[in-house]
Formats: sequence, structure tokens, C-alpha cells
Amino acid sequence: MLKLYNTLTRRLEEFKPLGEEVKIYTCGPTVYNFPHIGNYAAYTYWDLLVRTLKADGYKIKRVLNLTDVGHLTSDGDEGEDKLEKGAAREGKSVYEIADFYINIYLDNYAKMEFLPADVLARATDYIESDMQAVDKMTAAGYTYKTKDGVYFDTSKFIKYADFARLDLAGLQAGARVGFNAEKRNVSDFAVWKFIQPGEKHAMRWEYLGRPGYPGWHLECSTIIHETLGEPIDIHTGGVDHIPVHHTNEIAQTYAMTGKALARYWLHCDFITVDGQKISKSLGNTYTLEDLADKGFSAMDYKMWLLSGHYQGTRNFTFDSLDAAKNRRNNWRRRIALCYQIPEKRQNSDKSLHFAEILAAANNNLNSAEAFALIDNLDLNLADWQKIDELFGLRLIADTPDISEEQYALISERDVARVAKDYAKSDELRDKLLTQGIAVKDTPSGGVWEYC
Ligand code: AMP
Ligand code: ZN
Repeated sequence: MLKLYNTLTRRLEEFKPLGEEVKIYTCGPTVYNFPHIGNYAAYTYWDLLVRTLKADGYKIKRVLNLTDVGHLTSDGDEGEDKLEKGAAREGKSVYEIADFYINIYLDNYAKMEFLPADVLARATDYIESDMQAVDKMTAAGYTYKTKDGVYFDTSKFIKYADFARLDLAGLQAGARVGFNAEKRNVSDFAVWKFIQPGEKHAMRWEYLGRPGYPGWHLECSTIIHETLGEPIDIHTGGVDHIPVHHTNEIAQTYAMTGKALARYWLHCDFITVDGQKISKSLGNTYTLEDLADKGFSAMDYKMWLLSGHYQGTRNFTFDSLDAAKNRRNNWRRRIALCYQIPEKRQNSDKSLHFAEILAAANNNLNSAEAFALIDNLDLNLADWQKIDELFGLRLIADTPDISEEQYALISERDVARVAKDYAKSDELRDKLLTQGIAVKDTPSGGVWEYC
């Protein structure tokens, strides 16, 4: 039975899906730059969420959006569109920027062994629906127009402050004087932005008689409406999304449908690097490629992420990454041993301990607890196969059994050793070494591992 910490209620709750399929939505990346390692944290934990639900026997429909318009550098209604910024930086069109970085993300998601989403939704494919959504919110009296766009009047949604427990009076009092005097409340946000004469914004659509583009928050409400329908079962994102982005998604969806957006909300905390926030100016925005250059695979990094819990900040260091890599290699050595111990291999249709490991994952995705169990339990090959499916760590794929010929060489070497023909046994050992296989002698004969 899966228990999740629900941001909506601030409680650990038993998960009960509404229908046959568990409907999940994940706020995806803004595709204008190379992702850094922090950007994979949330997707790793939501991959575990999906895999845990699958292991529990649920059918899932999962949607991930790709933001290719409307996300401004401020995360609010000010600043430059991040895609425009990327285009200016690289001397390309916004569409080229979006295509390029979408491919980078998808390549890296595959490297991280994330199960693909059932629907990958590009924000720019939903512009018509965005306009219909704004029409609906306007008809229901939730919006007003200013010189630079259509704004959501947050005072009209009585529960606006509830989700994030916002102090709206405090926010209002602390508002910067003079900024966007046309906004009625400091928390109001643009659902549609107008492009001003002379303003550079390549992505533009005619709506309300003027060129414009959707506000960043709108795409998630619209895409959920079009692909899943409200309410969905689980909505996921980073903790940074709680006070503004998710709060605004909830408000928009209520205004356009009268319904709640999601029943369970999950948020992943941030990771720091060497005790500091990840930022360009500190030079700690490592990418997966940077880790590879230092000898760490995407799987080593995923292992590091899953060694901790999704809630609670985590500090990345290369020492701790090295420990995660060693732990994974140790698990692979244990898999190699399972191939060689008949009882562990023959039981391959029956796992012994997987239920305990799955129970840890079902406990609010406690991968750290599951990993501690894996370290300590005596596992068979069937356990390892299921562990690999649950965490997506390529343990088995990266540790294939050796060939009949290689097993024959090990036996031949055992015979040579018994006959004290050390020259021959050394020769066979070296031959196996050139094939990446190390043989250790045990009382019951040579045991191999990858080296
Ligand atoms: P960005 O493209 O920088 O806006 O990041 C996209 C999302 O990645 C953010 O909204 C966060 O949820 C997530 N993210 C960014 N940095 C980190 C981090 N250091 N740790 C965990 N998640 C992060
Ligand atoms: Zn979103």
C-alpha cells in the first residue's frame, strides 16, 4: 500500500486512485539551456513514483510538459522569455533552440533510464486551448485586462492562499512600489501577455485582436485539461513551484472548470553542491556530461540521488558520488555471484525479499530505506531483477552473465590449479582479465567478477 506525503494536506496519506488509470502530471523543463544535475533530481524521484505504482500493479497515464514559450526569467510576469534569451545567446531561432534542448533532455532522460511519459506535451502545441481557457476564465469573471496582458484576479479565488499557506496581506505590504500599477493584487498573474509594438518576441499568436503569448502557468492547466481531465491523481514538481506556479495552476483550473486540479501533490526538495546553491556564478552547474568526464555514469548519479529521500535538501559532493558508484559496483558484483551460485540462480522465478524492498518504496518513496535493505539482505537473481525494474539502475544490463566459453576457461583454470600447473592457471587468468573478467579463488573453485 503506497503512502505519500501530500503537500495539499501536509500529511502522509494512503494513496487511493480515482479510476482504473492513475493520472500523473509532472511539470517539465523549460527547454532553453543545458540541464544541470539538480534538474534531474525531481525526475528521478518521479520515475521512482511511476515504477513503484507499476510494481504495485497500477496502470498509469503520465503526462510531462515541455515549456517552449512564456516562461520569463523572473518566473513571474517580468523579464525576458527564456526561449528568446536562449535564441539571442546562440544566434538561433526560438524554434531551433526548443528543438535542440528538447533533444538534449530526451537523450539524457534515456541515459537516466526514466520511463518515457505517455504524453510529452509541448506548450506551443496547446495555444488554441490556452485561448479557450482564458475565454472561460474571463467569462467566469476571474480576469481583467491591462496594457500588457490578461491577468488573473487572485482575490476572486477565495482559496488562493490555502495551498501554499501564503500570507497575502504580508505579500501585499511588501510589494515593490510602482511595479505594474495596473495589477489589482500583488499575487495576480498574467494568463496571457500582449506583445508591445517594437517588442521582440518571435513566438506570437493573434488573440483579442493583438499579438501575444500565454503566461507560463497556463500551459500546465491547459495540458492537464486536454490530456488527462480534472482532477488528476498526482501532480509533481519541485518545492520552488509551490508558492507561485502550482498555486496559480490550481487557481486557473478552478476558474475554468470549477474543479480541483489534483488530489495528491508531491514536491521534491533542492540539492546543493558542496553546500551551496547550484548557480552559474559559483561554477557548480555540473551537467551529466561533466560527471561522465570525471568517470561517473548517469547511473552512478541516479544511484546517488536515490540513496537519499526526495524530501529534504541533499548535498552533492564528488566523494559522496564516488560512494554511490562503489555501492552500485558492489551490487553488480553480488549479481555476478548470483549467476554462479545455482540456488540463487535457479530461484529466478521466485524473489525472496522483494516485497520488503517494495514496502520501503511504498513508504513515501523511501529509496534510502530500500537501499539499506538491499545492502543487507541475501538476495537472489529474481530479487535483483525486480530491484532493477523498481529503480531503473541498469544493474543487470551492465552486468551480463559471462559466456559458456568463459565459464569453460574458469573450469579449465580450476583443473590446472588442482594439478598445481600454475603457469597454465596464470595464463588462463590473464586471458580472462583481457576480457574484463577477474577470477578469485574460493574453496569451491574460481568465482568471477567484472573488473
Ligand atoms: P530551471 O530550468 O532552472 O527553472 O529549473 C527547472 C526546475 O528544476 C526547477 O523548477 C526545479 O524544480 C528544478 N531544479 C532546479 N535546480 C534544482 C536543484 N538544485 N535541485 C533540485 N531541483 C532543481
Ligand atoms: Zn506546471
